[in-house]
Amino acid sequence: MSEYRAVFRCIAGCGEEYPLDEVVYECRKCGNLLEVSHDIGLLKRRSAREWRELFDSRTGTTEWPYGSGIWSKKEWVVPNIDNDNIVSMFEGNTNLFWAKRFGAMYGMDDLWIKMCGNSHTGSFKDLGMTVLVSVVNDMIRRGRNIKAVACASTGDTSAALAAFAAYAGIPSIVFLPANKISTAQLVQPMANNAIVLSLDTDFDGCMRVVREITKDNTIYLANSMNSLRIEGQKTISIEMTQQFNWEVPDVVIIPGGNLGNVSALGNGFKMMYDLGLITRKPRIVLAQAENANPLYLSYKNGFRDFTPITPQKTLASAIQIGDPVSVQKAIRTLKEFDGIVEQASEDELANAAALADRTGTYSCPHTGVALAVLMKLIDRQELSKKDRTIVISTAHGLKFSEFKVGYHEGTLKDVDCRYANRPIAMAPDVGKIKEALEREFAARK
Ligand SMILES: *Cc1c(COP(=O)(O)O)cnc(C)c1O
Repeated sequence: MSEYRAVFRCIAGCGEEYPLDEVVYECRKCGNLLEVSHDIGLLKRRSAREWRELFDSRTGTTEWPYGSGIWSKKEWVVPNIDNDNIVSMFEGNTNLFWAKRFGAMYGMDDLWIKMCGNSHTGSFKDLGMTVLVSVVNDMIRRGRNIKAVACASTGDTSAALAAFAAYAGIPSIVFLPANKISTAQLVQPMANNAIVLSLDTDFDGCMRVVREITKDNTIYLANSMNSLRIEGQKTISIEMTQQFNWEVPDVVIIPGGNLGNVSALGNGFKMMYDLGLITRKPRIVLAQAENANPLYLSYKNGFRDFTPITPQKTLASAIQIGDPVSVQKAIRTLKEFDGIVEQASEDELANAAALADRTGTYSCPHTGVALAVLMKLIDRQELSKKDRTIVISTAHGLKFSEFKVGYHEGTLKDVDCRYANRPIAMAPDVGKIKEALEREFAARK
């Protein structure tokens, strides 16, 4: 046992607390969501400098499990888990991409993209899933009767769950909305031998089913309403700050659907702030697709009320969610971090991703939403060009080939594909090829 302590605590402040190895997702007294709460007093026994040095000393190591970007911060995540029971692929530690040419188009020279999609299953969902599956593995090893882990998913959660469960040898069940996810996302859990259920409904419908199924406590719920996921995801904030030599960025922009991740981002910054590693907080911008924008609508009325919607189809399929489970956590975070919520249309998100790709990215549609929102807020001068700004890229573009191909073939609905680049079909005639190249050089000037 380490000297630190973390428990599940009710977010509504009703005082309920449960151990992290209890099968519980909502407060048994008032029904609100739970969050992992760390004993900050105990963590303060180490100074900010000692924490920074400890975390820095673990970066790049192969010492189990600290080579992981998540478990290198173990004391701040799940301090009391047995290292031998951790299920990790040394996830995290993703690079910051200096968006030099893209930023220059908007007069920004301190714009960065955190490449969370450069990860085992191609999205940032790996960061939270290593934590959740580790805790489940620890429970199973200590004799708890858990038959399987289960989730509803818009694609990326299921891929991450299936991979980590397969690594640990734990059965997994995934509920996916039929025909609403990409081929790459569907095939990942199939390959990892998950039980894949394709349901004739949308994500919100799958979420209702998994909540029913997991009322049987031997099937463990792996969605982000389970706040163990949030503990892994929050290390993004810590890692980004560490990558800038513990200098906090000014603005962070993240796409949101079920809205767990925006609060995770806030939690990471808050913990560093409370423990003195940073002395100010960044501004957080939550980016939504216009076709699935319930939080944007709530923001527009000053968060006075929140109404779930039926989302329309969006290319940003991983955030096509109308009834976000973690909305209250998200609103709390945005209020604390001087938050902005902005939306992007299908045309805006697809063109933003394509424009960024011309400067070397390979952006998924969700990253496109965040980039489009950045462009709008800079144009409206709601964000400053001078600020150090980080866009969270949540998935790898390679998971969304239909989106990429559709864009460049000009077949995406509601999108004027202004940067489409098609292959030039021609005979292997060197003279004609030279002429064609001259035309292309001129066009690209
Ligand atoms: C899950 C996911 C998001 C949104 O995260 P939430 O916590 O649901 O708001 C954004 N982009 C991608 C690629 C995702 O998989």
